[in-house]
Amino acid sequence: MPRVNTKLVCWEEVVDWCRKLAEAVEASGFKPDLIVSIARGGYIPARLLCDFLDVHDLVSLQVLHWGKAAEITAVAHVKYPYDLNLSGKRVLLVDDILDTGDSVIVARDYILSRWKPAELKIAAMQWISSVAKIKPDFYVEEVKDWIWYQYPWTRAEDTTNFFEKIISERVKEQKSEWSYEELVNEFKEWYGIDVGDSYYKLAVKRLKKNGKLEEKEGRYRVRY
Ligand code: ADP
Repeated sequence: MPRVNTKLVCWEEVVDWCRKLAEAVEASGFKPDLIVSIARGGYIPARLLCDFLDVHDLVSLQVLHWGKAAEITAVAHVKYPYDLNLSGKRVLLVDDILDTGDSVIVARDYILSRWKPAELKIAAMQWISSVAKIKPDFYVEEVKDWIWYQYPWTRAEDTTNFFEKIISERVKEQKSEWSYEELVNEFKEWYGIDVGDSYYKLAVKRLKKNGKLEEKEGRYRVRY
């Protein structure tokens, strides 16, 4: 059994989910004039929704919330506040997933109070209904048991953070040295997914670069 419930998401699934999301928006009769993507997770779903819904106006708002390796480390807030006049416009606010829902709540409240659109609705591919503080107007999957969706756009970042998590936990058990294969095997065991060799290599390279690991004759040692 993996230690962290993780789902490896492929690009085709994302396209499929966004097509379904667009169908749900259309079926509701809601016709957005503009899509607002929540950066960074909402970028790709928002762009696909523009295509499927034939919407040509797309802007973005960066909301910071999540930290490393599936852990919340900060209070959600708008990173680069700016103003737009959206009076009379219908807005579709898009994110990849509603987990706690905090990012979407912060973005929604910001847009309603400062950009003043005529109407705003929320769309996300996944809705973790057991923890989210709000329900999106449109979603494809209702998730009851919490899971980390390993989306293709965070693969390098997640792999690096997951390795870092393994290393920091294993150090507590006096383990401080691995071969590349051992590291990869621990990753697969902990997360129950296989992201492929190119991502493992990229992540290990990053950990070496940021001083977390050092390599000597094919062995990787933790740097304190
Ligand atoms: P929301 O945007 O719904 O308020 P959160 O504030 O809970 O969501 O999370 C912010 C961002 O962190 C999400 O848009 C997503 O990119 C990422 N994220 C959060 N939870 C998960 C998860 N369970 N799986 C994958 N990515 C997640």
